[in-house]
Amino acid sequence: MAAAPARRTVIEHCAVATVDAADTEYAEGHVVVADGLIESVGPGPAPGGLAGVERRVDATGHLATPGLVNTHHHFYQWITRGRATDSNLFDWLVALYPVWARIDEPMVRAAAQGSLAMMARGGVTTAADHHYIYPRGTGDLSGAIIDSAAATGVRLTLARGSMDLGESDGGLPPDFAVESLDDALAATAETVDRHHDPAPDAMVQVAVAPCSPFSVSTELLRQGAELARSKGVRLHTHGSETVEEEKFCHEKFDMGPTDYFSSTGWLGEDVWMAHCVHMNDSDIDAFARTGTGVAHCPSSNARLAAGIARVPDLLARGVPVGLGVDGTASNEAGELHTELRNALLVNRLGPHRERALTARQALRLGTAGGARVLGRQRHIGSLEPGKQADLVLWRMDTVAHASIADPVTALVFGAPAPVTLSLVGGRPVVADGVLSRVDESEIAAATRREARRLAELA
Ligand code: ZN
Repeated sequence: MAAAPARRTVIEHCAVATVDAADTEYAEGHVVVADGLIESVGPGPAPGGLAGVERRVDATGHLATPGLVNTHHHFYQWITRGRATDSNLFDWLVALYPVWARIDEPMVRAAAQGSLAMMARGGVTTAADHHYIYPRGTGDLSGAIIDSAAATGVRLTLARGSMDLGESDGGLPPDFAVESLDDALAATAETVDRHHDPAPDAMVQVAVAPCSPFSVSTELLRQGAELARSKGVRLHTHGSETVEEEKFCHEKFDMGPTDYFSSTGWLGEDVWMAHCVHMNDSDIDAFARTGTGVAHCPSSNARLAAGIARVPDLLARGVPVGLGVDGTASNEAGELHTELRNALLVNRLGPHRERALTARQALRLGTAGGARVLGRQRHIGSLEPGKQADLVLWRMDTVAHASIADPVTALVFGAPAPVTLSLVGGRPVVADGVLSRVDESEIAAATRREARRLAELA
């Protein structure tokens, strides 16, 4: 039997920023998608005579980029936004743990849908959700998150989180918010077995993700790392976020966070950490030597007064760096495209830092950089033939951007650009500027309802 003919989408007459290794760009170019993969990218109109064209997009006035990759988030926080707005990390956590301990499956489902909708309409095509609150008997929270990503059409890395170091053991979270070591490990293993897909076009991958040095035991870090490596999945946690965390590690373990992670098997090419704000030169060397990745979350770090991560120094040493929204209880906007601009601006703060990050470096952090951090750089993160067709068309011809000649400069320095079309594996997630698979107003109503229910319970 002959193979079925390819089904193609042709996008042309737009600027194209491929974010390939050479930063190849076309002032006017095309992208052809065939059977979910990028078939060709180049200058001028698409080649003539293509068969099986199902959709032809005249993208005049647009910039095409790879889809954005969000490397750190906590979807459930969508229904606990706007609380403890003037606190540092530890005070904010202490205020929120008792609220989070009351979440259940319908709440997590609505919150995940809200987080995903907000990200998807802003150009995110792959998102990592670090979920670490699993109150006993509250349903299948991981399943609710995975269902929500499938409904929206966004690729998901579910970082199955955990906490086992309650207050009575010297940790920060209250005892009622933590799991036992054995329960956490068993549930994480089960989540990997059930949901992790190693395929190039995977819509769901799972990572092992104990929450942070001050909320998990040394044993959970050690055994979590062994579990991840035995199953061939990635490892994720929070690291070096605040001065308080640094103090905690020095008091409890007599070493800084990076040395502590090193001592528990948590540096390596298969590890990425959120924040990494308080790093000295030798910490950065350790990340560079081992290939450990960083999820840079500039808005959250500013919101919680955590500090500024040394992104230019990390990049100069070859450390993999991507961008993260972080949970929306510490970044209420919940968007990743605004983090391109915030990463650039925050890293320029200080005298003589005008070259600290460029617009193209910021775009790379949000796309190819994020793909590398999630271990998916062979398949997503740039517009190159053979890769998954995860791409975004940003509208650049409205009053917000039309007077800026360079579209990448307009995207990063300008106001958040509207997304006209977003594809994941060639399938639309946003079409004509609207989420194509879910109803945004229904999601808004569900998030309002579940946020109220949680506020009444907590
Ligand atoms: Zn976080």
